[in-house]
Amino acid sequence: MRLEFIVHMPESRTMPNVSVLIPLALPGPYDYAVPPHMAVVPGSIVRVPLGQREIFGVVWGDAEGGTPAHKIKAILEACDVPPLAEELRQFVDWVANYVMAPPGAVLRQVMRVPEAFAPPKPMTVFEAAEAPTRMTAARQRVFDALAERGAMAAPELARAAAVSASVVKTLAAGGHLTAHNVPGDKHFPYPDAAYHRVDLSAQQKAIANRLAASVTQQDFTPHLLDGVTGAGKTEVYFEAIAAAMETGKRALILLPEIALTGQFLGRFEARFGCSPALWHSGLGAAERRRTWREIAENRVSVLVGARSALFLPWRDLGLVIVDEEHDGGFKQEDGVVYNARDMAVVRARLAACPVILSTATPSLESYVNAREGRYQAHRLTARHGAARLPEIELVDMRVAPPPQGAWLVPQMVAQVGAAIERDEQALLFLNRRGYAPLTLCRACGHRYACPDCDAWMVEHRFRKQLQCHHCGHMEPVPQHCHSCGEADKLTACGPGVERITEEIIGHFPQARTIVLSSDMGGMAAQREAIQRIGAGEADIIVGTQIIAKGHDFPKLSFVGVVDADLGLGNGDLRAAERTYQLLSQVAGRAGRRAERQGFAMLQSHSPEHPVLQALASGDRDGFFEREIAARQMADMPPFGRLAALIVSATNPQEGLTFVRQLAAKIPPHKEIRVLGPAPAPIARIRNRYRYRFLLKATREAPLQGFIASWLKPFKARGSVRLSVDIDPYNFL
Ligand code: ADP
Ligand code: ZN
Repeated sequence: MRLEFIVHMPESRTMPNVSVLIPLALPGPYDYAVPPHMAVVPGSIVRVPLGQREIFGVVWGDAEGGTPAHKIKAILEACDVPPLAEELRQFVDWVANYVMAPPGAVLRQVMRVPEAFAPPKPMTVFEAAEAPTRMTAARQRVFDALAERGAMAAPELARAAAVSASVVKTLAAGGHLTAHNVPGDKHFPYPDAAYHRVDLSAQQKAIANRLAASVTQQDFTPHLLDGVTGAGKTEVYFEAIAAAMETGKRALILLPEIALTGQFLGRFEARFGCSPALWHSGLGAAERRRTWREIAENRVSVLVGARSALFLPWRDLGLVIVDEEHDGGFKQEDGVVYNARDMAVVRARLAACPVILSTATPSLESYVNAREGRYQAHRLTARHGAARLPEIELVDMRVAPPPQGAWLVPQMVAQVGAAIERDEQALLFLNRRGYAPLTLCRACGHRYACPDCDAWMVEHRFRKQLQCHHCGHMEPVPQHCHSCGEADKLTACGPGVERITEEIIGHFPQARTIVLSSDMGGMAAQREAIQRIGAGEADIIVGTQIIAKGHDFPKLSFVGVVDADLGLGNGDLRAAERTYQLLSQVAGRAGRRAERQGFAMLQSHSPEHPVLQALASGDRDGFFEREIAARQMADMPPFGRLAALIVSATNPQEGLTFVRQLAAKIPPHKEIRVLGPAPAPIARIRNRYRYRFLLKATREAPLQGFIASWLKPFKARGSVRLSVDIDPYNFL
């Protein structure tokens, strides 16, 4: 690109112009002039005027032209930060194109930490001067560390040399270390590929070798690492990370619920000698700034992060791993709507590096990709060592219902008791937060609904509140019915985790019981609870899906699923697939150690359902094959493609008018069908009335182009908002 050569321009010439992409939902980049003596290249982060304000943007390429010369403003400042790599800019454009978002809105994912665009504040580092005459072992280690790693700040040096701060201080005071002020941040330690290699089983080793070879080769290959829970997938992909380190490349690991997985960091440290860098919403501002900057400076070897880590300013990215790739949490639902699992594959392709999708229950998309040879499949068929998969038993609730007013069948309670007797742990799983999903008045039948959504208020008894799970609206649990005024007539209908907790504590008042769901106690408290469970400091755990994901609880031997039918009633495309994934994940928490055979019991009103039958018989592939056949017949993903168009408005009439106008202008297309419009299943959220179109297309159809040309003449006005969801996961 021509811009690469612009370094200095003589002042007499006209200023060269460039296009600058601004991280706002604008249609495209704007042209700006580069003042004399300012050097920019594509990817440079710059500060530019925009209307009355100043804003950071990124030089995207040559000027687009078309703006009259007198209207072009000059760039104010080129920031002192390495330019964004071409592959990151391509990624932004690719994602924008694919999810049909303005490129600036996607760029915003990259530009979230403007504090990192300036160099960090200076820092004092030390380097070796004359060695002291009295050289102790500790002092020697300080000199060795400096020789090995170069100048370091005092705390880092003390840590690297494994000496106390006073050793460094004394050496400095004696003139044996010289201090310099350097612009800098505390660097992340480099993990050591050879720190503690694990003895892998033959099957593990064969896969680890193939993954490592793929990393060394550095070309774009997607791998599906498909192994039962506890098979050692993490240990296996650690070897691929080691290969990336040895190749001088960077590795990115995406984990769902990263903020909760302190355990993972411990395992990483045991294998590589230090923690990886982290990226998630729970990071403090200073840590975010440092991490972003260190990545921009290409000094981070391995980072574990949430989906937004894909948008960090990587250089030399040599491996991307998506752990628990089937997890629905990789789909980002607000703002730019994208699936981080799919975008991870795109990111790897642009970086020309391998990507590993790891899971015990692949998404159907990945399973089909592997089956059709687009992904390399690697199968780990057994748990590590002598540990075996849990046995799964179905309980038919129609035949043997729980006692009146209870939710757990006696066999379930007996199993919990038996686990406690054996000094093991029992987990009761119910994917429903709060105490009860519905509250009504026994006197008049009034049901408590959210004022702003078409949804019932969920009672959270521990907090003494009713809460809407769609908008978060809360009110205190009322003493008197809002409708008829009667006191003490409110009845909770159905169970949530809190109610199950109450029931099980009634049976085992002496046991240590922990209840865990995403709305309880904030992230730090949840992380601590998970750690306590792992350390054996609980007998009974009651939890929602946050307890199901990837955790290793050595003492857990019994898993009871309170309502195995819960997800099956959703009726959406992935109801069966998701329920299978979730329940086998949950059951897979049991018996991860050889010394404890795991057991899972599933309460169901339809134990003959194919999903539950597949779980009980362990016939995963049979279930997948039937599910694939059904999807294939119906041309549903991954054999066809879907997109959703959601129109919402605070004024229902405005929304309806807009939807009718859209419906009247659906372009005809042989390979794309537009279904709807219909009111969304939840027809009102946050006081916005919602309508949906569902688009169904063949795999080859130009879905995005079709939507773009359909929507082109329309502009959402007034209270109307229009959003597009490509490959939707949420049909509400
Ligand atoms: P997965 O990710 O497939 O669920 P993990 O990698 O978490 O499995 O492994 C399950 C348990 O078995 C972990 O505690 C892990 O440390 C242990 N493990 C797996 N493979 C080995 C091995 N080759 N040597 C020692 N321990 C192993
Ligand atoms: Zn609400």
